[in-house]
Amino acid sequence: MNPNWKIDTIAVQGGYEPKSGEPRILPIIQSTTFKYDSAEHVTRLFDLEEAGFFYTRLANPTTDAFETKIAQMEGGVGAMATSSGQAATTLAILNICQAGQHVVAAGTLYGGTYNLFAVTLPKMGIEVTFVDPEAPAEVIRKAFRSTTRCLFAETIGNPGLNVLDFEKFAAIANEMQTPLIVDNTFATPYLCRPFEHGAHIVMHSATKYIDGHATSVGGVIVDGGTFNWSCGRFPDMVEPDISYHGMEYVKTFGSSAYIIKARVQLMRDLGTTPAPLNSFLFNLGLETLHLRMRRHSDNAMAVATFLESHPLVSWACYPGLASHPTHERALKYLPKGSSGVLTFGIKGGAEAGRKFMEATRLVALVVHVGDARSCVLHPASTTHRQLSAEQLESCGVSPDLIRLSVGIEDAGDIIADIDQALYASQK
Ligand SMILES: *Cc1c(COP(=O)(O)O)cnc(C)c1O
Repeated sequence: MNPNWKIDTIAVQGGYEPKSGEPRILPIIQSTTFKYDSAEHVTRLFDLEEAGFFYTRLANPTTDAFETKIAQMEGGVGAMATSSGQAATTLAILNICQAGQHVVAAGTLYGGTYNLFAVTLPKMGIEVTFVDPEAPAEVIRKAFRSTTRCLFAETIGNPGLNVLDFEKFAAIANEMQTPLIVDNTFATPYLCRPFEHGAHIVMHSATKYIDGHATSVGGVIVDGGTFNWSCGRFPDMVEPDISYHGMEYVKTFGSSAYIIKARVQLMRDLGTTPAPLNSFLFNLGLETLHLRMRRHSDNAMAVATFLESHPLVSWACYPGLASHPTHERALKYLPKGSSGVLTFGIKGGAEAGRKFMEATRLVALVVHVGDARSCVLHPASTTHRQLSAEQLESCGVSPDLIRLSVGIEDAGDIIADIDQALYASQK
């Protein structure tokens, strides 16, 4: 890749650069395995002395091109794609955290991540302390223990759409010698590049804006390559790995140690690999990410502005609105736009919310965000329904809250549909 390429060019042409006579379009290498002529060559691949493909659970050329492109777009040293966003979060943490250790996480998380952290990781012996991301640094620091191995937060939180105070979180992470892992799903590297603001690891649900067309579930972890794993707190990164004939990750791979360990140890053992076809579709999605994110953001801003002054709406929440509590941070960290997701409170509460969702026509009721098509959801009865009333409140989900994922259709058409559904909801 030409190092001077801007992100719009990387989105279109990064990752896959065909040689003379090769396919113009990234091929779907739908092959489990790869043929070699010499046993010695395969030995070198297994010993990681040479880069190459031998089994698709570990690496595949189509997936590799997608990983290379997203790493370039985020400005990281490497990436590993996974079969879902949940798998990406799980592996991002398990790569540096084991039973008896601890995670500090912002409480304002995607519902699936919240469940993983509140219920499933503790069953595996990893405890998670949730903090209010708006709390002062000294309060967040108090949540840390000697066993804390990562700090986790989302660029744009759920469902309050709070923009992360990167400066504060990065400072805490550095002071506590703990990597900052950021879920950048809602922003995408087009709107925000967390490594430029002090994050050490980024992960995505590729299912959302990266795919962008609601075709595939997937995830990806990107390594910023800047965390000092030799600080004494991450022995697995520096000491010989007995499961990989004594491999020492930092010594062998330097700044790429984290992402290579994630692949050769965790992907090898846990196997949450994406299908090559899905990697092809994620790459295709990335080719228009810059265009779509601009349009998603412009449309969401228009819808949010419309909702804020609508008589049947009690409140509208979008980081691009001056009324949003983290609007200043949106201007600082999301200068190109605040993405396509917004929430609002409908007058008439949960009952009106249900009627509203049934009355929209262009805006479809689906469990999804980040699709080119506009969609609507009532979190309290869907994505967040496993949570108790108390947990709901700590996540900021009120019964009247409606979440819109604004698509890339004509903004006027989206607004007209929402307007008629608001009136229908009151009948
Ligand atoms: C959807 C989502 C996830 C989980 O991703 P899946 O691909 O559904 O497994 C994680 N984080 C955020 C912010 C999400 O929106």
